Amino acid sequence: MKKIKQNKSWIITIVAIIFTFTILVISLYSNSVTVKVNQLNLRTGPAVTYKVKEKVTRGTRLQVIDRKDNWIKVISNNRTIGWVASWLVTNGKIKDVSKLSEATIVIDPGHGGSDSGALSTTGLKEKTYTLQVATKVANLLREKGANVIMTRDTDKTVSLAKRPAIAMNNSANAFISFHFDSSDEANVASGFTCYYYHKGQSLQLAKTINDSMDNLSLANRGVEFGDFLVIRDTSVPSILIEGGYINDDNDIKKIKSADYQNQYAEDVVDGLSRYFATQQQ
Ligand SMILES: [Zn+2]
Repeated sequence: MKKIKQNKSWIITIVAIIFTFTILVISLYSNSVTVKVNQLNLRTGPAVTYKVKEKVTRGTRLQVIDRKDNWIKVISNNRTIGWVASWLVTNGKIKDVSKLSEATIVIDPGHGGSDSGALSTTGLKEKTYTLQVATKVANLLREKGANVIMTRDTDKTVSLAKRPAIAMNNSANAFISFHFDSSDEANVASGFTCYYYHKGQSLQLAKTINDSMDNLSLANRGVEFGDFLVIRDTSVPSILIEGGYINDDNDIKKIKSADYQNQYAEDVVDGLSRYFATQQQ
């Protein structure tokens, strides 16, 4: 009797080990990323200052073990464990969508909390108006059935690195950061600009949204390349909009007004809708 019992507990142990191992393998394989640059550095830690352990080539699949801000801990095919920059890999989890109602969109009101952003000539703060416009955009998108995540919905401090990380961790289909411009001298510049960093989907998103903003009562300064961290260190299609000059007395009148903000929000949502329609193929 004793012997049979012992055999049974052995079988249970083996089944449990196989089960755990299978789950582990499935979870590793279901959570992988693909290298999208010619050569990707696998580093000993989550920053460009860490040493390179191995270089991997375009198209290689890497299994994800952990994530920290904009860095991903992975295992390579040679079983090297290291960290890669998340904006240099394609997140396999992002699904193609052709409608707003299928999309996850991250809305980023610039600045907040201890960071006021730029100031108007009378001391009005950029962070106040980025939140007002971004909230209007988020509400309109939710009405249309989109899944919206805001990087902040109150006046609080959010680090720059955390903003694109929120978009990547949620496998967002688009990320839009809202800001207002400021010139070195007051009252010398006016109008809005749409910035992209990565060519491809981000540039297309910037162009489509910029086209739809022609209804606005400020000058359209067009689409420009911009080296901003929140749209650079990311694998999600991302743009940053400077929606007028806060230190221009005419622009700030518009920026403060409900009319301008409502039209701005509607235009951005229209642009997003048209952008997703072009993603159909
Ligand atoms: Zn700003």
